[in-house]
Amino acid sequence: MSDASLNPAPPAYPSDFPLAGASDLAAGLIAVLDDPAALTARLCDIPSVSGDERLLTDAVHLVLEHISAHGTPLDIRRDGDTLVASTSLGRDERILVAGHLDTVPIEGNVPSEDRVLDGEDVIWARGACDMKAGVAMALSVAHRLRSPRRDLTWVFYDHEEVDSDLNGLGRVSRNHPDWLHADLAILGEPSNAGIEGGCNGTIRVEVRTHGVRAHSARAFMGENAIHAAGDILVKLAAFEAPTVTVDGLDYRESLSAVGISGGVAGNVVPDECTVVVNYRFAPNTSAADAEAWLREFFAGYDLNVTDAADGARPGLDLPAAQEFVRAIGSAPAPKLGWTDVARFSALGMPAVNFGPGNALFAHKADEHVRRSEVVAATEALLAFLEPSASAVPGQSTSSEPKGQA
Ligand SMILES: [Zn+2]
Repeated sequence: MSDASLNPAPPAYPSDFPLAGASDLAAGLIAVLDDPAALTARLCDIPSVSGDERLLTDAVHLVLEHISAHGTPLDIRRDGDTLVASTSLGRDERILVAGHLDTVPIEGNVPSEDRVLDGEDVIWARGACDMKAGVAMALSVAHRLRSPRRDLTWVFYDHEEVDSDLNGLGRVSRNHPDWLHADLAILGEPSNAGIEGGCNGTIRVEVRTHGVRAHSARAFMGENAIHAAGDILVKLAAFEAPTVTVDGLDYRESLSAVGISGGVAGNVVPDECTVVVNYRFAPNTSAADAEAWLREFFAGYDLNVTDAADGARPGLDLPAAQEFVRAIGSAPAPKLGWTDVARFSALGMPAVNFGPGNALFAHKADEHVRRSEVVAATEALLAFLEPSASAVPGQSTSSEPKGQA
């Protein structure tokens, strides 16, 4: 235990909670808790660009209080603009469902619009797929649960779309790791309503060559460091990155030069050249092992690590995860990019991505999500957490989630 654990916990509520307007917004969200597509649109209508999440956080905080008062009671804790709401039903296992409340900057796409694309009704808005549809899925399920088979922890956090040291989930994992304890974490990032397990790790290094400066008219007096970098590029171009199977999923690795710099002046033989290399490695390798591997691969060169993050194992061998896979009904796929599931992995928890929407539209001016997919993902998550609650009268059961091949 660190000294920090002896400090009093921060107050659950900011002193000026709720912000003016938050109560009306919360009432609007509560009115459509049974309709996750409508809820997505209303969440999108509340701007929450990173750093400006407070109004939306206050509204969601009030929604959670409503859910707690009228459904399954929740212990609601708050750190800045991150909310953590947990059930205490005494179940043997706990599932954590997380979603970020912030978005990248708006591009004329707030408030949301109802549009039809390729014959499908979509919600067109900043945040539609990344990831207010995932937040809507979580809130709608939290509202409908009555007697879930496992305890639940709902996490809504700030600052996901900016520098990693501002990330609300990272902050809570440092300040209150006990708030996040669970047997399986489900992150509602867009995954076409299919399960994407784990994620690759990433490490960035500078590989440097050294030479001797000279006038380029008398190049034979020097040693050209840029020429020496040629060997680094040849090694990289010849390398065939492997595909590694971890817990049954195939993770394709990549090793790429992502930058090169060198040169002193137009008439000088350069004495230094730097090649920036990014290695995306499978989650059975730690960042430390990836560094050791790179040092061996580039033996003889000066190597400096600038950035490294472990990946996350998919954890699909865990019974709760297997049950989730069965409930969703489509084969899980690997996530090749780095996502916040790795933060859960660092806390010793298996974690998967599962959310409505296609990640290819995230951060784009044409960001949107299919209404039917928001409903399908919500029904699927509810069916996993409380099978008896998922059969809602009048609700179409044909809205199967579409896993990505
Ligand atoms: Zn996201």
